[in-house]
Amino acid sequence: MKLILVYKKGDDSINHLKIALDAGHGPDTPGKRTPDGSMREFQFNSAVARYAAELLAQCPGVQTLFTHAADGSRDVPLKERTDRANSWGADLLVSIHANASGDGWSNAEGIETFTYSVPSAASTRLAQTIQSALIASTGLRDRGVKIANFHMVRESKMPSVLLECGFMTNQQEAELLKSDAYRRKCATAIVSGIAKACNFHVPSQPEFNIPDKPATQIPQNPVPNPDNSSKKTEFSDVNAGSWYESAIQRISSSEIGLMSGYPDGTFKPDERVTRGELAVILTRLLNREVKQE
Ligand SMILES: [Zn+2]
Repeated sequence: MKLILVYKKGDDSINHLKIALDAGHGPDTPGKRTPDGSMREFQFNSAVARYAAELLAQCPGVQTLFTHAADGSRDVPLKERTDRANSWGADLLVSIHANASGDGWSNAEGIETFTYSVPSAASTRLAQTIQSALIASTGLRDRGVKIANFHMVRESKMPSVLLECGFMTNQQEAELLKSDAYRRKCATAIVSGIAKACNFHVPSQPEFNIPDKPATQIPQNPVPNPDNSSKKTEFSDVNAGSWYESAIQRISSSEIGLMSGYPDGTFKPDERVTRGELAVILTRLLNREVKQE
């Protein structure tokens, strides 16, 4: 119940509130993506964590810590994440996720928030205020506050919750999860839910100073689309609508011609590029720029 000790009720300027924000998974975590491969779960999770941290930075006395690798360089192991939050002395931990139901598209929808199977009262309270704020703000189906034996909420020593902010496997919700506006909406709701549970004040006009970052700028390797029924492009292994489709089309077009497909009609988007191949591609790019001048 440390939550109740760190601030005074109704006091806008709390002295210290240390909030650990966790963006679940990493950019290369297998399976954690939309069925068409157009979005990795980490892209959503990390964007929301970034926006939430920026809002919390505008709340006096609040400090935040990321337990994930914000640059997407790796999928930080779960134990390392909770060890980090515990040794930092976080007062609460919020783990941000997007949900999935099976591997393909399905109708499962809505938002749910988890606490540990035997939650502290402070965890339950935090889960309720964040869940309510998310539902009020997004209008998605309220799946409620649930309990689960998840590592992040079990091994963290402070009040902790794990949020599932919509289903990647639901076509409508996947579009929301990919949109910057929805990510900001979720971050704002999460922060207002935390503020309500902890009785601190969020500035009425919180400002996002971070420029928009298209999801595709997060470093990642392409994932093949396991759904063979999906529409294909001119390359048999590049699905229409996949996140790299337009880049491959452009780069292989006759006008640009920086990379080409294979004689069998594939592009092999998952294949690694060798240093020799990269040198050839870069030389083509250099020659092209010289020609244009
Ligand atoms: Zn997840």
